[in-house]
Amino acid sequence: MARYTGPHCRLCRREGLKLYLKGERCYTGKCAVDRRSYAPGQHGQGRKKISEYGIQLREKQKARRIYGILEKPFRAYFERAERQPGVTGENLLRLLERRLDNVIFRLGLGASRVEARQLVRHGHFTVNGKRVNIPSFQVRVGDEISVREKSKSSPRVKELIERAAERTPVAWLEYDANELKARVVALPNRDQIDIPVQDHLIIELYSR
Ligand code: SF4
Repeated sequence: MARYTGPHCRLCRREGLKLYLKGERCYTGKCAVDRRSYAPGQHGQGRKKISEYGIQLREKQKARRIYGILEKPFRAYFERAERQPGVTGENLLRLLERRLDNVIFRLGLGASRVEARQLVRHGHFTVNGKRVNIPSFQVRVGDEISVREKSKSSPRVKELIERAAERTPVAWLEYDANELKARVVALPNRDQIDIPVQDHLIIELYSR
């Protein structure tokens, strides 16, 4: 279960926009995109011209980085999306949204997807009553996600629970702040997935 372990702000600067990978810090004046709004590295402020391939590549990298997925599993998501009926780009984003770490982030029980992934890995959540510590676990309609009884006393989990209670979750998730339970009421459609990615460019890239 490999994951990216390098500097996260560098990824945002490469994409030229905030990917909100660091939670609270992203909303402060310390955000690297706000402070240095150019690509990292020696040539970061240099050549700007970008080819069609380059544009497609950047969209794919952006999506990968938002969801924190390495190249090989990301391609596997694409191949799975391609086999499903319907629009491949939409299928791809739906598969990514259905990851358990993303669901935890969407509920506000993780300040970023990076933190949500770590909390899942540490076994703080159950799905349909069973402890699940696999960030890529795919939720289905009707699944019930809860904070594990033992985890409710963890200071960080407590803090996140308080914050989640003040948020309105995305339309395809229902959250009961008293019971600390969420339910997947539907699978998200494209309009409900608010990530700044043009999925058709990813499909074009992989279809070359
Ligand atoms: Fe990206 Fe957040 Fe770092 Fe800003 S603070 S560059 S949004 S990860």
